Amino acid sequence: MFPHTQVTERLLRWFEEHGRDLPWRKEYKPYEVWVSEIMLQQTQMDRAVEYFTRWMVRFPDVESVAQASEDEILKYWEGLGYYSRARNLHATAQRIVTKGNGRFPNTVTELEGLPGVGPYTARAVASLAFKEPVPAIDANVERVVARLRCLDQPVKHKESQRAIQESARDMVAVLKPGQAREFNQALMEFGALVCSRNPRCEECPLESMCLSRKAGLEHERPIKGKPKEVVRITMATGVLVHHNRLFIQKRLPGDVWAGLWEFPGGVIEDGESQEQALVREFQEETEMDVVPTWRIGTVRYSYTKYRVTMHGFYCALANGREPEPVLSAASRYEWIEFQDMDKWAFPAGHAKLRTIMQEQGPGVETGE
Ligand code: SF4
Repeated sequence: MFPHTQVTERLLRWFEEHGRDLPWRKEYKPYEVWVSEIMLQQTQMDRAVEYFTRWMVRFPDVESVAQASEDEILKYWEGLGYYSRARNLHATAQRIVTKGNGRFPNTVTELEGLPGVGPYTARAVASLAFKEPVPAIDANVERVVARLRCLDQPVKHKESQRAIQESARDMVAVLKPGQAREFNQALMEFGALVCSRNPRCEECPLESMCLSRKAGLEHERPIKGKPKEVVRITMATGVLVHHNRLFIQKRLPGDVWAGLWEFPGGVIEDGESQEQALVREFQEETEMDVVPTWRIGTVRYSYTKYRVTMHGFYCALANGREPEPVLSAASRYEWIEFQDMDKWAFPAGHAKLRTIMQEQGPGVETGE
């Protein structure tokens, strides 16, 4: 029998002493809790705090998000990745302001109806901001329960999911009214700081109740699932310079990195050199003929299952005619000044390329 009451009491005591001082924990304003939860999806805590702090200076309330342009929202999100989170946040803020008269949804059911808000986020916001007594199960909670109960299937297995949800629900059920806010954070924080990937069992307040520890299996739990598939791709990208301005294009709605800006380019096909791929991609995406003039450098980045190596080149128009871009992979284009590159939100690889270009300085491609 899982000792729910003892576990919850010990975790609440542990959290009182060890809970981190985070900016959204000062007042638990629904807007702040919501933004923090969206930022924390797929993001380390330190990084989320840094972005959250900067975000709140520019967007102190839901109205300021609703009124901002998508370009500005994406610029403030630049570097956090998973940009659909930012687009959904923007769409949700607009919905709250126009349809909800600025009232923030305050139940799990209402929250689950918002763009980009799944079961976990809805429960986390409802319990942290409104103290709704519902469990919020993230990867930390899954790991802690899998270890406490010594589950013998990977956490995503349906039997494990049933056991984890049952334990989380039963723990919330024994809380006193109003304690769900602290308890959910306690459980997640405990998973992040103590029962982490390398568990610190010697300082664990739950050690005497932990079945994995008793069995000496704390490092073998949770059971690992199938390793994630990894796909490696190599790309070539071109920074076209014309009259001292750089060509950038905006990615199409519905595309990965929709709404962000980039330099044209794409995957190098079998038998192609980097330069050939760049020329072909540029022609396919913009109907402009270019010639590579200078190798900027190579960057590496990851997104979802992809590990990307991207070779960047400056290039010039091949025929000397005035450019007339015809876009097939973008919704808009701009010719921008070198020193204005930071004003535009780029996805990770292009942002890394931008950094190299800034380190090299303007005019490098023409030898100026
Ligand atoms: S004893 Fe170790 S494995 Fe068990 S809950 Fe505590 S930290 Fe996690």
